[in-house]
Amino acid sequence: MIQLRDPLILAQNLIRCRSVTPENNGVLEILEEALITLGFQCNRLNFGADFGRSSIANLYARRGLGKPNFCFAGHTDVVPEGDGWTVPAFEGRVVGDYLYGRGAIDMKGAIACFVSAVARLLSEDTFIGSISLLITGDEEGCGLDGTIRALDWLVEQEEKLDACILGEPTNPHHLGEMIKIGRRGSLNGHLRVLGTQGHVAYPHLVENPITRLLAMLQVITSKPLDGGSTYFQPSTLVLTSIDVGNKITNITPSQAYATFNIRFNNNHSGASLEQWLRQSLNEVGGIYELDIDIIGESFITTPGYLCEVLSKAITKITGRIPNLGTTGGISDARFIRKMCPVVEFGLVGQTMHQINERVLLTDLEDLTNIYLNVLNTILRD
Ligand SMILES: [Zn+2]
Repeated sequence: MIQLRDPLILAQNLIRCRSVTPENNGVLEILEEALITLGFQCNRLNFGADFGRSSIANLYARRGLGKPNFCFAGHTDVVPEGDGWTVPAFEGRVVGDYLYGRGAIDMKGAIACFVSAVARLLSEDTFIGSISLLITGDEEGCGLDGTIRALDWLVEQEEKLDACILGEPTNPHHLGEMIKIGRRGSLNGHLRVLGTQGHVAYPHLVENPITRLLAMLQVITSKPLDGGSTYFQPSTLVLTSIDVGNKITNITPSQAYATFNIRFNNNHSGASLEQWLRQSLNEVGGIYELDIDIIGESFITTPGYLCEVLSKAITKITGRIPNLGTTGGISDARFIRKMCPVVEFGLVGQTMHQINERVLLTDLEDLTNIYLNVLNTILRD
């Protein structure tokens, strides 16, 4: 219990498990042991094997039965370490002012901070309500057997979350700079334009798909999608590939492909963008196939009580007034928001997914105190 009050020791122990998605490698056992010591009831949720995929270990732990049920969500899986580390990636080594290791920032460090905050809370007084943790081993992978399925399980158990902090790294440079209250949506487009193969000396006899593909891409990239909205930056359409595969110099190809990604704000939905894309491509005309994968819709948690409590805690500990942002990629908040208000706040993201991922030791201490402050406000009032 005394050891758990220090986030560094738990963060090191979590980092020492090489839990690259979909592997668990003992990381949830370490977390469970800590949570059981603190009086949590742990439910291990294994998903994936039932659909013929790798089995993914997830965890839902709860302490107390009362309301509100305040939840911390996160993931114990990490991305592969890559080459070029100057310290071992899975040793949890402290060098100077930093703890090094894959997951130090994203996001074993933040999990350790939350557990330590609970240990500190419990050593003070009693609290009202419940504390829960929703931890997945499938965030960095495809996410099919992680948070989304754990939430379905919660619904089946009639288990309710009342508010949630997701501990993803949200700060660009310094702890306390940014809370994320939403995320942009993301969709991938796969465009295939059909034409006719023919001799380059007789272009009037062929329908060159390259010319038409270029015209289509010109139409969809020539104008901004929007000018942004209150909490969102402008939506973007980015071309990711153009491919014809023609190695012959005297024939035109019969097909041309392009792929693109759209990151969109709350001015759009996946469906409205698909409609706009088809309309734009139809204006150019000809035969084409368009496949759209909607990875996630944009969403926002309108700033309210949770955001206010977290902001105050951040200012109290760091002296900074956090911005409310929606930048970056998608996150599991897109699933959790369907159950309860969710905001994201964690460590400084600068080195996440990079070699020599590292966290300032003082940031671990400060984040622990920020989470403790939030728990104290929400569960003692
Ligand atoms: Zn993460």
